[in-house]
Amino acid sequence: MSTATDYDVVVVGCGPVGVTMAGLLAGRGMKVAAFDKDLALFPLPRAAHFDQEIMRVFQELGVADDLAPSLIVNVGMDFLSSDRDVLLSMRAAERTRSGWPSSLMFHQPGVEDAMRAGARRLGAELRLGEEVTGVADDGEAVTVSLAGGGSVTAAYVVACDGARSPIRKQLGVAMDDLQFEEPWLVVDLVLADGVAPPSPIALQVCDPARPHTLVPMPPPRYRFEFMLLPGETADDVNTPERVEEFLRPWLAAGTATVERSAVYTFHGLIAEQWRSGRVFLAGDAAHQTPPFLGQGMCSGIRDAANLAWKLERVLRHGAADALLDTYQTEREPSVRFIVGLAVELGRVICTLDPEVAAGRNAGMLAEREAGRGTSGEMGFPPLPGGALCGDGGGQQAVQPTVAGTRLDDLVGPRFALITRTDAALASDGAQWWQAAGAVLLSAEAHPELAPVLDAAEADAVVIRPDRYLLSAAAAVAMPSAGTAALIGS
Ligand SMILES: Cc1cc2nc3c(=O)[nH]c(=O)nc-3n(C[C@H](O)[C@H](O)[C@H](O)COP(=O)(O)OP(=O)(O)OC[C@H]3O[C@@H](n4cnc5c(N)ncnc54)[C@H](O)[C@@H]3O)c2cc1C
Repeated sequence: MSTATDYDVVVVGCGPVGVTMAGLLAGRGMKVAAFDKDLALFPLPRAAHFDQEIMRVFQELGVADDLAPSLIVNVGMDFLSSDRDVLLSMRAAERTRSGWPSSLMFHQPGVEDAMRAGARRLGAELRLGEEVTGVADDGEAVTVSLAGGGSVTAAYVVACDGARSPIRKQLGVAMDDLQFEEPWLVVDLVLADGVAPPSPIALQVCDPARPHTLVPMPPPRYRFEFMLLPGETADDVNTPERVEEFLRPWLAAGTATVERSAVYTFHGLIAEQWRSGRVFLAGDAAHQTPPFLGQGMCSGIRDAANLAWKLERVLRHGAADALLDTYQTEREPSVRFIVGLAVELGRVICTLDPEVAAGRNAGMLAEREAGRGTSGEMGFPPLPGGALCGDGGGQQAVQPTVAGTRLDDLVGPRFALITRTDAALASDGAQWWQAAGAVLLSAEAHPELAPVLDAAEADAVVIRPDRYLLSAAAAVAMPSAGTAALIGS
């Protein structure tokens, strides 16, 4: 840590993204504090789904195994017409390259509690009930002002302060608006004893009279989401009587109680600038997506995984400042893909004109008859090429279990060089990676590692600390001068 600052990194916001950011940094030995203006967790229903890659990040937070029994595997999602004909069927893979199921459903308060405990165990200070009122970056450090008059200093600040992000506003960062704005009512239910979930698979009911969504959650919970029609307000729909009316086609009276409900306006927004000097935006502060793919929080957690190791390399390993610019260049294309797809799906789902809906249904049924519209693991674009993603790089690395330990747990928050033979680990390139802090492993010594190489069609791969492939090649090569300068030693 720079002795001149109180902290290496200050995180603003202890939502799921801020807590992940703080935990991943603390797990790398950074001195980190995360501030939240609230003492309690956010009380209203929000995220219910995350994907396999997030489980991999939870492994690093040390909470994946504890959380696993509280999750349910999501089989996929069907899009239905108002007559409940299946228009489109998306299926989730039961097992993916990370070793975890593609799609998992969770109850947010329990998961967030576990994440906070995990971040604290890794050494993060969570300063709850302390509001940040502003940041001042003098080029050497950032002063973070607190409500009540105090302040702390840090080498870097990551603003994970949510959709309304006061820090984004202070920095004057504009949002690219993908022109999607739809209000929906979200209702979390507790099903009565012995009541079966209305559907074991997520459903998008594309009914022009009232588009709605069914979301299976770990029992006994279940979620419904209902679109507001033009002219309706939150007060019109968020009443016990209206909720009862909306639920009736799916649930008999008295079979569930409402645990919490809220009206949200879903948006598609992406910040134009994710970094301003020593201050970064992450999570909802940097981007917001309609929740039709269940990817808003997931994208924010990916932000944290991408940025954490880069901050460590700059703070501890003399990496170039330019490494921190790759945060936005690497993350933004993935976020644009997801937000764009969610907005596109949202437009399909939110169709209110019966004639347009009939045409849409006919088109989707024709696609389905032609055998299109099913999928397994949700695919995201690979990381863009460049010094951090050379030949064969950019994909998430396969995670096998080696002698009873998952690969990421074996490697820790570091680079890994994996080769086909032991001899390859004696090369100059391998020595360079070892000096840079990488863990060196061979499939000759650990045959369970062969799938990592096979999937990349390579005999030597370098895995980044965020578990993406930096390179995949026939032999270990010295990193290019550009790569070496970027990641430091
Ligand atoms: C209905 C709905 C369903 C969703 N479903 C999913 C889903 O299934 N899967 C998924 O991945 N995502 C989903 N999302 C999106 C997901 O909830 C968000 O993307 C996620 O909560 C964002 O996390 P965050 O940490 O960036 O922000 P937040 O969770 O909003 O946290 C921001 C934190 O910053 C704090 N804060 C703000 N200002 C200050 C300040 N000045 N000082 C100190 N603290 C401050 C706040 O108190 C808050 O705790 C859904 C969203 C909605 C609305």
